[in-house]
Amino acid sequence: GVWPINGEIELSHASMRYRDGPLVLKDLSLKVKAGERVGVCGRTGSGKSSLMICLFRIAELEDDGGKILIDGIDASEIGTSALRLNLSIIPQDPVIFSNTVRYNLDPFSAATDEEVWESLTKVQMADTIAELPNGLSEQVSEGGENFSQGQRQLLCIARSLIRKPKILVMDEATASIDNATDSAIQRMIRENFENTTVLTIAHRLNTIMDSDRVLVLDDGRIAEFDTPEAL
Ligand code: ATP
Ligand code: MG
Repeated sequence: GVWPINGEIELSHASMRYRDGPLVLKDLSLKVKAGERVGVCGRTGSGKSSLMICLFRIAELEDDGGKILIDGIDASEIGTSALRLNLSIIPQDPVIFSNTVRYNLDPFSAATDEEVWESLTKVQMADTIAELPNGLSEQVSEGGENFSQGQRQLLCIARSLIRKPKILVMDEATASIDNATDSAIQRMIRENFENTTVLTIAHRLNTIMDSDRVLVLDDGRIAEFDTPEAL
């Protein structure tokens, strides 16, 4: 069958450090239900992005018995390619491949042009792409100088819309997306990823208040994990 089926995420005593540095995630234990929408917040340097990096096994956990389980399966036993195919991450500063716009949106040519345009419309990027001399066939440069950081995030979300992952992680880039676009994106995520577990690292109160639960990190530890009403 297709894995993951549900999209439940469980951390059990998970710790992590970069190389020989200090621990940046410290003994985190929590369970995110399948289909739940969790807002993640905390001060700069509290470990929000590091938590996402661990989920995707871009960095490995401390070798001290801590675990990340996805649908009950130890993530360290899942191949990184299978993991990254089934989980989608919208990084704070997404990388664009030096290839066409279309390739960046649908690298496996799994969708029709119509579906690609539909996803671009949902993230409000259709006009921008339509105005390019070659539209979907426009070559974009590595690092994506053709696009702002916010636009690269929107393209990354459009790619996820085509993929329909079971788990979506979004690391909001506050500086580069205006309030109106941010609200539109949050609404779009609500409407289009209904059966997806969504973790959003959020910088705005609005985004967080709309979540099922809010995870507050403080210096690599869980300060709160509760409904927005209870906080
Ligand atoms: P922000 O809100 O600024 O994005 P954050 O909560 O995402 O912050 P992290 O990026 O997870 O914070 O950083 C947590 C800690 O890990 C910080 O002390 C940071 O300096 C350190 N750190 C992050 N990335 C690296 C890296 N690649 N190498 C070494 N240390 C890192
Ligand atoms: Mg970060």
